Amino acid sequence: MGKERIREVLRKKDLEGILIFSAENIRYLTGFTGTEGFLLAVGDENILMVDGRYIIQAQEEAKECRILLLEKGIEGVAAYISSLGLKQVGFEAEGVSVALFDKLRHRMREVELVPVGEELERLRGVKTKEEIFWIKGAIKIAEGAWEKILEMVKPGTREDELALEFEYMMKKRGSEGIAFDLIVASGPRSALPHARPSSRKLEVGDLVLFDFGSRYRGYSSDETCTLILGSATQQQKRIYQIVKEAHDKALERVKPGVRLAEIDAAARRHISEAGHGKHFGHGTGHGVGMAVHEWPVVGKDSQDIAEEGMVFTIEPGIYIPGWGGIRIEDMVLVTSGGCEILTDIPKDLIIIGG
Ligand code: ZN
Ligand code: ZN
Repeated sequence: MGKERIREVLRKKDLEGILIFSAENIRYLTGFTGTEGFLLAVGDENILMVDGRYIIQAQEEAKECRILLLEKGIEGVAAYISSLGLKQVGFEAEGVSVALFDKLRHRMREVELVPVGEELERLRGVKTKEEIFWIKGAIKIAEGAWEKILEMVKPGTREDELALEFEYMMKKRGSEGIAFDLIVASGPRSALPHARPSSRKLEVGDLVLFDFGSRYRGYSSDETCTLILGSATQQQKRIYQIVKEAHDKALERVKPGVRLAEIDAAARRHISEAGHGKHFGHGTGHGVGMAVHEWPVVGKDSQDIAEEGMVFTIEPGIYIPGWGGIRIEDMVLVTSGGCEILTDIPKDLIIIGG
């Protein structure tokens, strides 16, 4: 699937070969699902180097690759590249530590190593039909679990119990795992955009924020619902309304050719005009695919432009310290005429038991 895209990178950067380290890009380019390995794309060939633990798996999964048994880790990679007599090899700058890079450089001094960033970051930005199908699969699993979780949302239930049950329900429905550590944050804790579930028990009147995602065939989902337990105050309803309108305004802007910074601005402007600019401290969204956060960026300083086939989130929020926070997050697919909202849970205010 991504095989051709890596050739484009080689051509564009005028490189003889390129060395890939990240598990996501290796899986994308070869189908290999192991967590350790090195991929060398050189000429028309993809060479996957793995140690003895992964050799059978690599042979089964990465059928279009040449598989090499790697005995000395990165030193083996360097020795192999040297043996090919290449003059200039690109490497995935984002996927390598300084220590690993040093080892590589010291063992192949005759090869010029060229960092490749942007082109590899963007490799997976535009999704194929098959990838979109898998992303939808991940969403379906998570949303199926959500229906079960809603039944557990009542006073006295702990945040961490809900998070654990959520994970269990997703796995039961076929999730390969969670896409990220699930967030269940209630009451004043909902003001922490990346709160870890705690032992706090839900109380009547709480805002309860759930940010959740499953993983299916290597693809992630990411969605946030914030609900209110028991009865809602006027302020809770008002802030919810502002976030919902900001979310809708951003969604309306999504179509091919639009700068993602403009989509961010549509949400941000609305929240600022309502007097809560300082309570919205993160970007409006991010690409989702094999990684839950990947290119492109839907933020203030983003230079990225919407393209048909991109999948990203729209997730404005307002977080008021000591009071609580509200975030509404959907995933969208950019289509030729605008966008398709991939996530299915309606984002109107839910008051549980109210
Ligand atoms: Zn999220
Ligand atoms: Zn997100």
